[in-house]
Formats: sequence, structure tokens, C-alpha cells
Amino acid sequence: MRPGENTRYCIFARAIFIKIKVFTSKDKKTNNMEQEKLNIVRHSLAHLLGAAVKSIWPDAKIATGPAIENGFYYDFDFTTPITEKDLGKIEQKMREIFKKWQSLEKKNISYEEAKKLFEGNPYKLELIEEYNKDGKELSIYTSGDFTDLCAGPHVVNIDDIKMDAFKLERIAGAYWKGSEENKMLTRIYGLAFPTKEELEAYIKQIEEARARDHKKIGKELGLFVFSDLVGPGLPLYTFKGAAIRKEIMDYSRELQEAIGYQEVHTPNINKAELFKVSGHYEKYKDDMIKVMSNYSKEEYFLKPMNCPQHTQIYGSEARSYRDLPIRIADFANLYRDERPGELNGLTRLRCFCQDDAHAFCREDQIKEEFVNVLGIIKKALITYKMEYTIRLSLWDPAKPEKYLGEASVWERAQKILEDILVENKIDYIRAVGEAAIYGPKMDIVTKDSLGREWQISTIQLDLIMPERFKLTYTDKDGKEKTPIMIHRAIIGSPERFMGILIEHYSGNFPLWLAPVQIKVVPVRENHNKVAKQVGDELKTNGFRVDCDLNEGNMGGKIRDAKTNKIPYTIIIGDKDIAVNKITVENRDKGQLGQMDLKEFITKIKKEKENRE
Ligand SMILES: [Zn+2]
Ligand SMILES: [Zn+2]
Repeated sequence: MRPGENTRYCIFARAIFIKIKVFTSKDKKTNNMEQEKLNIVRHSLAHLLGAAVKSIWPDAKIATGPAIENGFYYDFDFTTPITEKDLGKIEQKMREIFKKWQSLEKKNISYEEAKKLFEGNPYKLELIEEYNKDGKELSIYTSGDFTDLCAGPHVVNIDDIKMDAFKLERIAGAYWKGSEENKMLTRIYGLAFPTKEELEAYIKQIEEARARDHKKIGKELGLFVFSDLVGPGLPLYTFKGAAIRKEIMDYSRELQEAIGYQEVHTPNINKAELFKVSGHYEKYKDDMIKVMSNYSKEEYFLKPMNCPQHTQIYGSEARSYRDLPIRIADFANLYRDERPGELNGLTRLRCFCQDDAHAFCREDQIKEEFVNVLGIIKKALITYKMEYTIRLSLWDPAKPEKYLGEASVWERAQKILEDILVENKIDYIRAVGEAAIYGPKMDIVTKDSLGREWQISTIQLDLIMPERFKLTYTDKDGKEKTPIMIHRAIIGSPERFMGILIEHYSGNFPLWLAPVQIKVVPVRENHNKVAKQVGDELKTNGFRVDCDLNEGNMGGKIRDAKTNKIPYTIIIGDKDIAVNKITVENRDKGQLGQMDLKEFITKIKKEKENRE
């Protein structure tokens, strides 16, 4: 993934929901050096893995073994297949062999020597031929009795390889050179970090992430389904999933209405012409889904973003400087033609919407617009209990050809944004070269409860699109001027955000978001009538209630409430009916004891309204 590439064009950016890493330029330097050092250790571990495998299976053929993110791998051609059960044995052998290693010694060799040395290994022979053809120097690295064809570099001090900071992770099939036409080899993956603590923390994070996988929890809680008949990347939200989605959208609505945004409703298909004017056609045609009409010859597309349509609403009337800002919000469905192999649960979809909006304003209004939007984004992220940092994405003045518009306009716009951050004492990092092609932006990078970073919110200044669509307003002096366009998203796509939230909360949604908020359980069948009355009263008060009057015992029903992570369970039995009360249990706090139904309703209404 190349987040930089993908965030460059409006909220069209795919990367909005892709985990990203953020570096300042200073961090980048130190990080690069440390990363290089770590890669050398990881690659040296790949040699050790090769040595261990050759020691256990002398007839296995070694292919290639590079360093990768989080560790390393080595590809082998085994005569008898191995399984993950063998990983412990291999790891043990690696530790055993390592004790005998003094160093990784480099030696340059001739083409003939190389061919002789790797005789019988078609993979190495193929590489030798290639390197030789390219005029590359051939070299080998030897440690103990293991020799590998390798250009290096490797650790100078063998003790840099920490035996307690690596672990073999898994095995997978991998085609030689990644081509399906070649033989399938066995890839052994290993994890490696600078310290034991970092390795353990990573393993813990992976296990936790696996347990919280939104696809797994989404299925367990019955939030959404996929159907082969509907198609990949097109989820169907159940009653429960739709309830969460609606809450997320309603909250974004509430936040944006408070700062003057109004909602419009726009169609899902557009003539290609619209995207030709906006410039999306040229850049993103292949990412848009084409639509055929029986009656018109023109090219149509399902829209991947709302901005071009909103320009048409703005442009439908003559605008005066007094009318501005005009703030347009839209929850229309958006479509992107993702590769089926890249689709992933709710975080990578073909159909979704966004809490997407556009403000058309004068230059002197930019500051206030940005401050207001930053305010609601901050409020939302506090509610969702997510930490965040702000990245100011600027253009790269060394590469003006990558951007639209004049240098002077860029410098002026960027200064406005930076001034806002400085004046409001907001911490931020500068990211040169990360701007959209039409203007600078503020990207809000959030952290979920597992410490993973997501870019979900964004505010972007657009100096180009209004001009392309020839949008104008009449200024105080009677002259026609071009408005500035601001693109913004609070939490981005409610559907994708739901995927993130499932993992962030591990399915334990706070009351306001929970698909079922309260479960009412009668102790015995003769308590059903009162239980139903209680359930109805709660529903009348606007809560999502599961009043469980089915056959089956109380224990099973309470267990079911726990499995479904329902915030409140109410038990109705003789002791409750006798004193006209209910017994309440909270998912996170445990037993709350007996309560008046009225008192309980007041309490949870407040909890819901405050989105606690
Ligand atoms: Zn090597
Ligand atoms: Zn936009």
C-alpha cells in the first residue's frame, strides 16, 4: 500500500482506512537508520533459518530469504512436505547452530565457482545466471558450515542477532519468483525485533487483533452478512448492524448540523462528463464501476465520491458573498471497483457511504471553517475514545508538476492552515509531499485501543475544483470571484468505521451504539407478563430491547446476553414483582441490584444521550 499515493485525491483516498505509519522528517532519518540495522539482523536470521533447515533436511533446496516487515522468511523446496508442527524443531536447531557461529564471512567468487558451489540447486543457478548476465558481482556468505549466495550486508557483530527476540511464525506456499507458472515452494516466516519485549508485545498485539477481528466478531454478533448472489465487497447489514450504522451516521449528522452543514440527497450514477471536468476520469477511471444504460449512448459511472455533484448544487444558483459559506453534506452510497482479492470485511468495500461534506467559502472564511470542523472531529474522537494526532499534509515545492495550481496560491493556502494550528496551540506534524493534488490538507490520525493507527478524518483545501467547474460568487466589490472548496470527513465511512469500532471495542459497544441495548429475562414462565410490560416500556422510551419470552431456562438466557455483549440485562422474578422493581446487571460493572424501572430509565437515558 502506498498511503501517500492514495490520499492525494480528495476523500476518494482509499488509504483513509488503511493502517498508516506517520513520521516527521526528523523521525524519518533516525527511523531509517534503525530500520536498516534491523533489516540486516532479520536477513541474517534468514540465513540461520536456511542453515537449520539444511541441517535437518539435507536434501531440501534453498531458494531466497529476505528481511520483511516484522521479520524475515526463507523459501525452500522440500522433498517431503513439512508442517507448522516442525517449526519448534527448526527454531531449536537455529539456536543450536547459532552457538557455533562466529561471524558471517563474505567472499567474492567467480561465475564458474558459483555454478560449481550451487550445483543441483536450480533456484540458485537461475539467480547466478541472472546476476552474471546483469554484470553483478557474485558473492557468498558463510557461517559455520552453511554457505549462501548473497550480496549482503550482514551483521558485523554476531551478537547483534538476539536469540530471544525472534520466533518462527508460520509456513505458507509461495511460487518461485511469485509467478504461478513456477513451482510452489514452502515459505517459512519468522518474526524478529530489536528486543524480547518488542517481540512479545508484537505477538500479543497480533493475538489480540486476531481475537478482535471484526469479521469474526461481526459474525458472532450477527451484524452483517455477505452473499455470493449479491457479490464480493457488498455487505448486507442485518437489523443489528444497520442499528450501529445508523447511530454512527446520526452522530455525524448531529455534529455537522451544529456547525451549519445541511444534508442533500444525490444520485448514485453520473455521466462520465462530470468526472472529466473534475479530473477524476483521467486519474481514476479504472477504479470506478461503469454502468450501461439501455437508452443513452453516453458513458455512465457509479460515483466514487460526492464532490463533483456538490459543485452542481452550488452552481445551480447565482451566489453572493453574503451567501457563503454554503455547506453541503451527503450520505449517498459510493462505489469503487476494488480487486476482489483486496476486499476485506468492512474495511475494504465496493459499496459504502461517507460522512462526506463540502463547504464553499471565501478565502477570509477558511480559518473559521477549519477550526469548526476540527472542533467536531475532536469531539467525535473523544466520544469514540480514540487518541489522535494531526498531520499537516503539504505539497512538495521541489515537484510542482505533481500538483495543480500556482506556487503562490499553494504557499498562501498552506500558511493559512499552519496558522490555524499554531494559533490554536494544536500539536501537529508536517508531512511534505502528502498534500492532495489540488490543495493542502489536515489528516487526523487516530489510534485504536490496540495502538493501531488509522486515518479516518480529513479536512482538505481545494483551490482547483471550483475553477474547473467555473463556480463563482459576486463579491462585495461587485466582481465575480471563485469560491474556495473545503472537503471534509468526520469519521469517513460509517461502514468502515463500524469495522474499526468492532475491533476497537472488541464488540463491547457502549450503550448508545449497542445493537441490542437491554435484554429482559423472566425467571420463570409465570413472570413473562411483567417482563413483557417492562420490555414494552423500555421500547417506548426509545431503547433497542430483546425481551426473551422464549422457552428455555433463565441461565441460558443470561449467558446469551453475555455472548451477545448486551450492555444491560434485567431479571424479573417473584422478589422483583413483589416490590414492583427490576433486578439489573451491567455487562461491564456486574450486578447493580434492584431498581425502580423509572429510575433505571432515567439513568440509561442520560448514559445514552451523553454517549458515555
Ligand atoms: Zn544474505
Ligand atoms: Zn470531496
